[in-house]
Amino acid sequence: MRTIVRAACTAMLGLTCAFATTGSYAGGIDVRHRNATDVGVADTHRHDVPMPHKPSLLPPTQIEQRYYLPPTDRLRQELIPPELRKSMHAGELTPSEAACSDMTALASHQADDLANYLVGLPSADCLTPLFALAPSLAASVFSHSNLLAVAQRFALVSVSYTSKGTALANLGVFFRAAYSLANEGRIEAIGEDVPAWLRPSIVALVAGDRLFAPNEDAPTTAGTVTMLITDMRDEANYLDLMKWWVTRFTNTPRHPNAAHALDDPTVGYGFTGLLTVFYFAHSRADALPLLQNDPSYATALYRFVTANKPMLLNDSAASFQLEQAENEAFRFAQHPALLPAVRTMMLDALEHSTMAGADRYIWLGAAQAVKAYDNANCSFYKTCNFETVLASAILANNYQCDGGMVHLRTQSLNGDQARAACTLMAQETPFFHAMLATHETPVADDHSTTLEVVVFADREEYHHYSPVFFDNDVNNGGVYLEGEPSQPANQPRFIAFVATWLQPQFSVWNLKHEFVHYLDGRYDMYGDFDAATVKPDVWWIEGLAEYLSRGNDDPESIAAAMTGQYRLSEIFSNTYSMDDYVNRAYRWGYMAMRFMFERHPEHLAAIVPMFRAGQYGAYWDYMQRLSSSLDDEFAQWVGTATTAGAPTPPWHAR
Ligand SMILES: [Zn+2]
Repeated sequence: MRTIVRAACTAMLGLTCAFATTGSYAGGIDVRHRNATDVGVADTHRHDVPMPHKPSLLPPTQIEQRYYLPPTDRLRQELIPPELRKSMHAGELTPSEAACSDMTALASHQADDLANYLVGLPSADCLTPLFALAPSLAASVFSHSNLLAVAQRFALVSVSYTSKGTALANLGVFFRAAYSLANEGRIEAIGEDVPAWLRPSIVALVAGDRLFAPNEDAPTTAGTVTMLITDMRDEANYLDLMKWWVTRFTNTPRHPNAAHALDDPTVGYGFTGLLTVFYFAHSRADALPLLQNDPSYATALYRFVTANKPMLLNDSAASFQLEQAENEAFRFAQHPALLPAVRTMMLDALEHSTMAGADRYIWLGAAQAVKAYDNANCSFYKTCNFETVLASAILANNYQCDGGMVHLRTQSLNGDQARAACTLMAQETPFFHAMLATHETPVADDHSTTLEVVVFADREEYHHYSPVFFDNDVNNGGVYLEGEPSQPANQPRFIAFVATWLQPQFSVWNLKHEFVHYLDGRYDMYGDFDAATVKPDVWWIEGLAEYLSRGNDDPESIAAAMTGQYRLSEIFSNTYSMDDYVNRAYRWGYMAMRFMFERHPEHLAAIVPMFRAGQYGAYWDYMQRLSSSLDDEFAQWVGTATTAGAPTPPWHAR
């Protein structure tokens, strides 16, 4: 997705993108503002060692992804396919939860009154919408006087924190949002008098015993406070404290159960936060001199791995801490002075773990680190080209769908599940051809005769292995990589995972949506992904995949369009580097496409031949001539859209 990243960096958030491209660090910080697109081209940078994160089997929301918020376990409506909504229900917000998320209500409070309001909220989750505030509201909520008053309250609350209550977590999220928006240039820079209150409080919290103790009321507290350090870009001040905590959670003969504390979610997420401090420290100018010649950080982190492995390896609540601490230990190998010391650790990890056994994530972390930091010496570690062997071991089950077009490479599917996936795609194929009037004729120079569908056992498996095998981003719900269709040996590939949250119902997440991308690429869009996205046609690519995979039963998209937030002509300008990407590309893209099929197939009839001929410039000229002429009709039509009925081919209708 190199193309997308470049586009994102020129189009938005210049401050952070400049930051991401000027550091010597190759650890993937640009991920922060990359949109969670589900199509793209492979990017060789995806071999980066992954950053710390709280594992989740649910795809995270865009805001959770972008701002490193802890993923919630709440089942969202959009994660339930329409056909299952009668038997499964989303974890709806309670009325009080919904009310507490009202940002207009929040914005009616100022200064001390705002601090009181924040402290009184039932959960820090109420404050997630702060990260998506519109500019005018953000300027008001994060005014200097508000920030100063809330910082003073943060200092008070932190002094009296007794590992109880939600106040500290709430105030922490408030400042995480403030600094995140300031870092992106979405609000004014935060004056130094604000951190003057925050810094001593955070240092005291991290140096004391209360922060990393279980808090049943707000288990995200320790993680929020430590992640705030990274939002403030203050890592340099905390490196030694974080190292001290790593050693405190390391089992020793005197403290043989030290790591057991990580089973508690407060402590566990706090540990993720402290690892994140190390992760970002490598790219901070003030932290770099402190760590680039000091092997003690990597040593402490790797000792955590070796000493705690017997206790944590089979501990479902905390085993991930092993591989994530390992990743941060080995990340120090990027500094030449530290490579010799870390090399010994990487070799030790490979020699004492197995590629496909219970400790396979530890093996994977070491092999990835070698690839990232010492690949010239891969033969020393015996990991050269490990991906091929590893992929065969992990994606061991192969199925050929009837008809010969689709090949399944899976980690966990049994025969019945594979047949179900094949059937789903087989049923979608004639529908696609009818809706697009393809006459089953591929575009010229297209050799994508077969599709490989890779299915991982769950989202975490996808997260771990897919970037290694296929060089793709995983901040998405699966991805379609078309490759180079003009090359006879090309293998287009959809990479997916089982939607384990729907079990016992079996479902490959986004299978229908991604299969439309394959058919669209083969029968509608000339050239590869880069060629096909040279002009703004994401409304088409994502809108079509949504419309044909969901049919008319898409209440979320109808509800999104009912807000009137965008005009149709704005949606026609959709690209892969937009703020509000998920909403615009999928929800509004669906509505734009459905509108064109239902009301204006004559425009589709004009556009599709241009796509098929690769005349993307002509297509864009056509759209610009359309300009805003359909905006009013679209807005009126939105009010009439329902979930009833099913799409019908428009081509012979008039
Ligand atoms: Zn898509």
